[in-house]
Amino acid sequence: MSIRIPVIALVLTIAAAMAWPLSAQAPAAVSLIITNGIVVTVDGNRRVLNPGAVAINGAEIVAVDTPAAVASRFKAAQTIDATGKVVMPGLINTHTHAAMVMYRGLGNDLNLMDWLQKYIFPAEARTVTPDFVRIGTQLALLEMIQSGTTTFADMYYFEEEVAKATKAAGMRGVLGQTVIEFPVADAKTPADALKRTEAFAKQFDHDELITPSIAPHSVYTLDAKTLSAVSALAKRLIIPIQIHLSETSAEIGLSQERHKMRPVAILESLDFWAPTTLAAHGVWINDEEIALLKRRDVGISNNPESNMKLSSGTAPVVKYRKAGVNVGIGTDGAASNNDLDMFEAMRQAAFQQKLVTMDPTAISAAEAIEMATLGGAGALGRRQRLGSLEAGKLADVIIVGMSRPRQQPLFDPIAQIVYTSRGDDVETTIVNGKVLMRDRKLLTLDESKVLSEARKAADLVRKAVQ
Ligand SMILES: [Zn+2]
Repeated sequence: MSIRIPVIALVLTIAAAMAWPLSAQAPAAVSLIITNGIVVTVDGNRRVLNPGAVAINGAEIVAVDTPAAVASRFKAAQTIDATGKVVMPGLINTHTHAAMVMYRGLGNDLNLMDWLQKYIFPAEARTVTPDFVRIGTQLALLEMIQSGTTTFADMYYFEEEVAKATKAAGMRGVLGQTVIEFPVADAKTPADALKRTEAFAKQFDHDELITPSIAPHSVYTLDAKTLSAVSALAKRLIIPIQIHLSETSAEIGLSQERHKMRPVAILESLDFWAPTTLAAHGVWINDEEIALLKRRDVGISNNPESNMKLSSGTAPVVKYRKAGVNVGIGTDGAASNNDLDMFEAMRQAAFQQKLVTMDPTAISAAEAIEMATLGGAGALGRRQRLGSLEAGKLADVIIVGMSRPRQQPLFDPIAQIVYTSRGDDVETTIVNGKVLMRDRKLLTLDESKVLSEARKAADLVRKAVQ
């Protein structure tokens, strides 16, 4: 030992002495640099670098700095010039049912219960198959990549098909296998759905892009015994739970009828909460429940467009944020929105809060961006790795064009992103360091093939609802 330590120390000293002048002179090789853009970091100081640069190596961001500083330290295999464009974290859609794009435009202008029971559940009973889910998910992936979403949280059936399509497209997903009490296409009983979830979680364990999750539909479509079994499985497998929670006043009534308690109280009485629990909607929630959700570290997905279209109500987003609850934004399924454009969701999230609070400062543009990125990452339990442009985080980055007439003049990039930009303005989408769309050209999906398969599958839906 007395001999080895000095030898190791000597080797380390020599290595350090050699490495220092090397790093000072020769820039380190990285895979990708995005330079000269207006870099909206959403980091701890909410820095906006104008101009700025982002260096990416493999799946990770290695530096966010001025173009000159990044150029002096790194040499990239690929460089993207983002002059005049916004470079920002990819958007995180915290609640959707991707394959439901296949029911887009079906059964409009109805409340949630009528819409679900008269249109969606019957249509699903006749059309959902593994192939149908694959086709619908691919159509959704096209739309999401084209509008700057880099992570989506999904609740649906045959979630392994969603996972395979998502992984093949290079997208990141927190994918929840649905558990519901009536027989559905992929499970005759809730017990079958739990078995499927376990197999699904094993199949995609430790995947780079896919986080398997369990999705109990809601308190009003599940009994206490099944809710407890879901919770036990999520805790055992250490997977996130996603659940629709207190979405409508009708749900509060049904829960009181069935469980003699409000939805949050029934879940609390069952010790339901997992290390990561995402509650979608959280509209009909009182102050005590907000405090409880904060104590249990439950994340909220705010879905303003779906909540407005179905007249479900408005989530107390300002109160959640004041209490320190992680709030992200979601589109919900395209059948109740009717698109997956997170830019529009972000704008409506800000507008809706301004309107109901009668306070234009309720949610600022910067706060809307924060909810659509870092807030969503927090709600999904991924704040350490996703949601901002910082060294050490995963490289999920989008480049947004700012040259359309409606984007002129450009005084305030933050306001421009939230109040005037649209998903169509996204030019480049990068997930896990891989470019999925470059200058609007899709690199991982065959758009015309996906569209033609979706049109064919739409005939099945048409027949099912005749
Ligand atoms: Zn939903």
